[in-house]
Amino acid sequence: MEQIVQQIEAYKQEIAAFKAKTAEELEQFRIKFLGTKGIVKGIFGEMKNVANDKKKEFGQVLNAFKQLAEAKYEEFQQLKEAGNGAAGNLDLTLPGEPHRLGTRHPISLVRNKAIRIFERLGFTIAEGPEIEDDWHNFTALNLAENHPARDMQDTFYVQNNPDWLLRTHTSSAQVRTMELGKLPIRIICPGRVYRNETISARAHCFFHQIEGLYIAENVSFADLKQTLYYFVQEMFGENFKVRFRPSYFPFTEPSAEMDISCLICGGEGCNVCKHTGWVEILGCGMVHPQVLENCGIDSTKYTGFAFGMGIERLTMLKYQIKDLRLFSENDLRFLKQFQGVL
Ligand SMILES: [Zn+2]
Repeated sequence: MEQIVQQIEAYKQEIAAFKAKTAEELEQFRIKFLGTKGIVKGIFGEMKNVANDKKKEFGQVLNAFKQLAEAKYEEFQQLKEAGNGAAGNLDLTLPGEPHRLGTRHPISLVRNKAIRIFERLGFTIAEGPEIEDDWHNFTALNLAENHPARDMQDTFYVQNNPDWLLRTHTSSAQVRTMELGKLPIRIICPGRVYRNETISARAHCFFHQIEGLYIAENVSFADLKQTLYYFVQEMFGENFKVRFRPSYFPFTEPSAEMDISCLICGGEGCNVCKHTGWVEILGCGMVHPQVLENCGIDSTKYTGFAFGMGIERLTMLKYQIKDLRLFSENDLRFLKQFQGVL
């Protein structure tokens, strides 16, 4: 036992004199003294060879030794973590911690691209509250009280005031702009909207829209078509066809839906386009005169067009994403795929 105690004394001196200049030296120290095959463990293994009446005394020596080695390691480890160059153990050759850049969410990418396209046409952004009242979300937009969109199935109402609801489209921001009465109006309304839908690959209880409104004298359906042609070409490129289908919306007359030939199958027919070769991307039309009047605009003097589209839909088409739920799951494996996309 005498021999071992002498050996420990020698190690203690070595430890006391030790100064780690680099992280590597510190690691070597750790392996030598505190590693699983290190000196401390080795000497603890000698305990079984010590006579029973000496065990207590030897145990104390061992513990003190172990604590000394640990304290030394801890001291330099802290200096290393603090990056204390003055202590002389800052290793400039160590590879740095990678600085991870985040990525823009694909919804933001497409929303920003759409905004930039419409800005080039002179549209400015108008925003409104996400909690709306019945007038701005429905009544002003010519949605009769018995319109199915008002059904509780589709709309989230605020419990303590049935006049309040989570807006179901960003058209409410259009109403607010029209009510201000400053003409002409040329706005887009990007934003989040809410509907009481069952969450699936194609629908969610919230999604994002971008709507547009242009009101001036002599605005025609031709202006509407030209604006939207320009938009889809800037958004998706030029290798596809566009068609307008007559449709119905209470706030526009005439109304249309705009389809583009399927970007995935090129119009041949696939799952995404339900084998029709066409994908619907937006609804549009000439603003209903009643809506203009509701907002205090003279419908005999002014005309206008409006359109609205889901940003999720555009994004799914643009990046060929098949499940809408991916947008809100915060899965980094999905989000990282948009690294570097601007
Ligand atoms: Zn297709």
